[in-house]
Amino acid sequence: MKYSSEYRDPQLAKALVAAIARNVEGFDGQMTLMEVCGTHTMSIYQHGIRSLLPTQVRLISGPGCPVCVTPITYVDQAVAYARRPATIVATFGDMIRVPGSTSNLLREKAKGADVRIVYSPLDAVAIAEKNPDTAVVFLGVGFETTAPTIGGSLLEVERRGLSNFFVLCAHKTMPAPMIALTSDPELKVDGYICPAHVSAVIGSDAYRPLAEQYGIPCVVTGFEPVDMLRGIQLLVKQVVAGEARVECEYSRIVKPQGNLKAQTILARVFEPCDAEWRGIGSIPASGLQLRAEYQKFNALSALPVEVEEAKEHRGCLCGEILKGKVTPKQCPLFREACTPEHPIGACMVSSEGTCSAEYKYGG
Ligand code: SF4
Ligand code: SF4
Repeated sequence: MKYSSEYRDPQLAKALVAAIARNVEGFDGQMTLMEVCGTHTMSIYQHGIRSLLPTQVRLISGPGCPVCVTPITYVDQAVAYARRPATIVATFGDMIRVPGSTSNLLREKAKGADVRIVYSPLDAVAIAEKNPDTAVVFLGVGFETTAPTIGGSLLEVERRGLSNFFVLCAHKTMPAPMIALTSDPELKVDGYICPAHVSAVIGSDAYRPLAEQYGIPCVVTGFEPVDMLRGIQLLVKQVVAGEARVECEYSRIVKPQGNLKAQTILARVFEPCDAEWRGIGSIPASGLQLRAEYQKFNALSALPVEVEEAKEHRGCLCGEILKGKVTPKQCPLFREACTPEHPIGACMVSSEGTCSAEYKYGG
């Protein structure tokens, strides 16, 4: 296909839906496919993809949004920096309303804290350059798609000789949580719809251990409805045939080896570390921390702050949602106490969180 409109072509979509139905003919049982990318979750809801699939194929959402999987302690740390004198907290907009234990950044801003929304880490570097007597703490949240830009901004901070720029680092990496969920006996995932942007950086080969050691089929797909349906069809075919390979439906963007330039920046500035995932717990080597020579930029060690004791919100099922164990409608707070205007959990705040997608498109 040459044109973007073809990826939304209803005839092609129909043919794929029919092909999926043919593929599962005679398949006795149910298969569970998990998408681990917030944009895929949105696309599935937006295009009503679940309703097009045969009953044997169940789609569940996983830990695909870096905002949603960031633990509450991180938000509490960000709030503590917002309360610190002579400090500017710079963040992408989606973090500003995520609830911490007793506050969030928006509330702190309303009370007078200097919290600024930026569109790139370099905007935050420019703020640091203009305010040499103020510490600028940038919230480093995101998967392998965001981390290289933050790594690049630290190289720029060094080049400009700034000493007032720091990162509160909570980067997460794939495919470690996919492996962790695969080993969860309560959650039988039969195939993964692998994230698209992350895969453009890490490459589709990164999922080979999942297929080869854990026997789970993996397909990298794009975001358009035809992409999604083609990806699902490839997965369904593998599951029915009892095969487990990595396939890439999104080869127009994703290469097997990924983006080597971004990987080089990542490896220069960061090293793997164990990381805490909301709902899942600590996963070995699933995060990125600054290497020793970049620790001077680590907000937590360079600018210690007192952080309140973490308190999860009673009744919020975000942790279970992120493991794919419950759906938003199973949360008693969904649509009642928890709405996009008054979110109680991160999955409702983030524009690509599962609860927010269900609220907007779930009917
Ligand atoms: S909601 Fe924000 S952080 Fe989460 S996947 Fe989407 S863009 Fe990324
Ligand atoms: S509906 Fe709200 S409270 Fe319930 S799991 Fe989703 S975000 Fe958490």
